[in-house]
Amino acid sequence: MKVNVLTLYPEMFPGCLGYSLVGKALAEKKWELNVVNIRDFSDNHYKSVDDTPFGGGAGMIMRPDILDKALTSVNPQGQIYYLSPRGETFCQTTAQKWAQTPELTFVCGRFEGVDERVLEKWSIQEISVGDFVLSGGEPALLTMLDATVRLIDGVLGNAESIQEESFSNGLLEYPQYTKPQNWENRLVPEVLTSGHHAKIKQWRHEQSELLTKTRRPDLYEKYLTNLKKGK
Ligand code: SAH
Repeated sequence: MKVNVLTLYPEMFPGCLGYSLVGKALAEKKWELNVVNIRDFSDNHYKSVDDTPFGGGAGMIMRPDILDKALTSVNPQGQIYYLSPRGETFCQTTAQKWAQTPELTFVCGRFEGVDERVLEKWSIQEISVGDFVLSGGEPALLTMLDATVRLIDGVLGNAESIQEESFSNGLLEYPQYTKPQNWENRLVPEVLTSGHHAKIKQWRHEQSELLTKTRRPDLYEKYLTNLKKGK
């Protein structure tokens, strides 16, 4: 998978994506990162890329002509996304879809955002990390790419852990325990040390359902609906 990133802060990449599983996958070229500095396409002495909004109001807007030049230089294949609180909220399903995509391009906004016309011209889709406002798209993108890259075939060592983790089966993950078995008089649930695999599986499933029902009734509703549909 090739990832093009258009940003005013290229030094923020790979950032946390250079570490652990995802960083190892980058070093092994299981995915590729092409970072483009939008400022390189500025047409003026001050290297500015923004201007005041027509109609007045606070803040600055990123200029469409400069972003357009940056995008042309990338010649993106496939969908372009703009990190934006107005977009559809990113979720595990999006990560799964992206992990199967050969090339993705992302525009990270700064200031008050970008001129609407560049979004229209390039049919850019907006994607949000959640209902809050960041100062720039970069931290949102780092989060989304971390979630995506670990799902690329061969990145995570144990493929089973992908199937069992939160959201993959529509449920939150069951509680996990490791050694010591008795820690400050808190014991590990007995069933987990029983060696009885079917019982362990059943206990984990029940715990997953219970946790989802109490913590995320919205997810639980969806899970029940999908169960009825036989999904
Ligand atoms: N004026 C905008 C917010 C601009 S925040 C508004 O009210 O909608 C500056 C930049 O941060 C945006 O251009 C966007 O790229 C990024 N950003 C802010 N919040 C975000 C979120 N929840 N998800 C993804 N990107 C976000």
